[in-house]
Amino acid sequence: MVSRTIPVDTFDLILFGATGDLAARKILPSLYRRFVAGQMPDDARVIGAARSDMDDKAFRKLVAKALSTYVAESKRDKKTIDAFLAQCSYIAVDAMGDGGWAELKASVRDEVVKAFYFSVAPSLFGPLAERLRSNGIACENSRLVVEKPFGTDLATAKKLNADLAASFDETQIYRIDHFLGKETVQNLMAVRFSNVLFEPLWNERYIDHVQITVAEPMGVGGRGGYYDTSGAMRDMVQNHLMQLLCLTAMEPPATFDPDRLRDEKLKVIRALDPIGPKDIVRGQYKATDTAPSYIEDAENPDSKTESFVAMKIGISNWRWKHTPFYLRTGKRMTKRLSEIVVQFKETPHSIFERDEESKANTLTIRLQPDEGMDLSVTIKEPGPGGMRLVNVPLDMTFADALGPNGEEIPDAYERLIMDVIRGNQTLFMRGDEVEAAWAWTDPIIEAWTERGDRPHPYTQGSSGPEEALALMHRDGRRWRDLGEE
Ligand code: NAP
Repeated sequence: MVSRTIPVDTFDLILFGATGDLAARKILPSLYRRFVAGQMPDDARVIGAARSDMDDKAFRKLVAKALSTYVAESKRDKKTIDAFLAQCSYIAVDAMGDGGWAELKASVRDEVVKAFYFSVAPSLFGPLAERLRSNGIACENSRLVVEKPFGTDLATAKKLNADLAASFDETQIYRIDHFLGKETVQNLMAVRFSNVLFEPLWNERYIDHVQITVAEPMGVGGRGGYYDTSGAMRDMVQNHLMQLLCLTAMEPPATFDPDRLRDEKLKVIRALDPIGPKDIVRGQYKATDTAPSYIEDAENPDSKTESFVAMKIGISNWRWKHTPFYLRTGKRMTKRLSEIVVQFKETPHSIFERDEESKANTLTIRLQPDEGMDLSVTIKEPGPGGMRLVNVPLDMTFADALGPNGEEIPDAYERLIMDVIRGNQTLFMRGDEVEAAWAWTDPIIEAWTERGDRPHPYTQGSSGPEEALALMHRDGRRWRDLGEE
C-alpha cells in the first residue's frame, strides 16, 4: 500500500505539562511516531513547558525515556530518536506566575503555526490562556489544544469556555476527545455517508435499537481519589459515549465542514429525552478474594460514586423516535472492549423457518480491540440438507483490510495532533456541544445526589450488575455478550 502520509506545514508545538504522565504516555510518543512516518517537517519544534527546572539536555533525556517506555521497539533506533530529540527543547514556565514567559516569547516563531497544548489540570487552562495573550505570544496562527475533563458540570464548563474565549477565538480551540481520533469513528461517517446501502435504512423503521459499550477490565486503583469525584457518568458518558451516540444518530451534514458536522451532533444532544430513574442503572464493583472493591480503591467507605452505568436513551426526532439507544460503560468488566452495535429489525415476513442461527442483521463498529466493522448477514448454510439459514459476518477488520504490508493504524492522538497543525477542527468538540452534553447530564447526577441511593454492587470480571441486564430484558432485548476475558 502506498503511504498516504501528507506533510503538514512547519510548526512550534508548545507542550504545557511536558513533564506529566499524559505527555509521556501519549503526546510525545505520538509526535515521535509522526516523525518516523515523515510527517513532521525538519524545522518543526516541540517546546516542552512546565515548572520543573531543567535544561534542554535534561528534557531530551526525559523524552527519550518516554519513547523507550511507550513506543514499540521496532519503531525505535538511536539515529531516529536523536534526530527527533534535536527538535525538542524546554523552557521552565509557571502557569500561575511570571517565570519563563519572556523566554517563551523569545523562543516561539510568529511566522509558523503555533500550537499550545494544555496537558495540565483544567484549573490552569484560564491562567495559561490569559498569559499567552497578555505576553503577546498568541497570535492569529495560534491553536489551543485542551485535554479532558472539560468541566465537571455545566457551570464549570461554561466558566472554562468563557476563560478560553477571553483570549482565543472558538476557531482556535481544539477540545480533545481521543475517541474521535479513532479510525473507526471516521469510518462510521465514511460508511454512513458514502455508501448508498446504509443511509436509507438508518432510522427507526429499520433499526430496532443501538447499543454502545465501553468496557474496561481495570479498576480505579491509583487514581481512585480523582475518580471518586467523577464517576462513570462524568468520566465516560458525558464525553466519549455521548460523542459516539451523536455520530451514530446525527443527520448527514451538508458538507464535511467541521462546523456543519458539529451542528448536526449538537442537534442530537438537544433532542435527547431526559432520563428517569427506571432507565438508568449504576453499579460499583465488589471485592474478590484477591482484588479490592471500588470502595477500597477509592478509599472512601461512604462512596456513592458509580464505577459502572447503563442507560436507555430516547431521541425525540423523526429519525429515531422509537429506536432506543442503550449505553453502558464500567470498570472491572470482563474485558477491554469499545463498540457500537446497530441492531436492525427482523424482516417483516420470513418465508424460511427461523431458528436461533438466523438473526436480524447487526452492524458492529469496533473501536477497540481490532478496530473495524462487521455486518452480520443471513445466508443459506452451504451443503445439502434444505434451507438452513446461518448468520455470517462480513468482516472488515481495518488492519487486515490494509494487508500485511499496509500502514499501521495510527494512534488517535497522532491523528488529532496533526489535525490541530492542519487547522482541522472536525474531530474536536465545540464549546456549545460540550455545554449541551453537560446540560443533559447534570439533572441525572443531581437526581442521584438528591436521592442519595447507592449504586448496585457487581462482580468483577462481569458485564455489570444484574439490574443492567434487566434494563434490556424488560424491553425483550439483550446486551451483546462481552465474551471471554
Ligand atoms: P500530571 O502527570 O499531574 O502532569 C501535570 C503537568 O502539569 C506536569 O507536567 C506539571 O509539571 C505541570 N504543571 C503543574 N502545575 C503547573 C504550573 N503552575 N505551571 C506549569 N505547569 C504546571 O497530569 P497528567 O496525567 O499528565 O494530565 C494532564 C491533563 O491531561 C489533565 O487535565 C488530565 O485530566 C488530562 N488527562 C490525562 C490523562 C492521563 O492518562 N494521564 C488522560 C486523559 C486526560 P511541573 O510540576 O513540573 O510544573
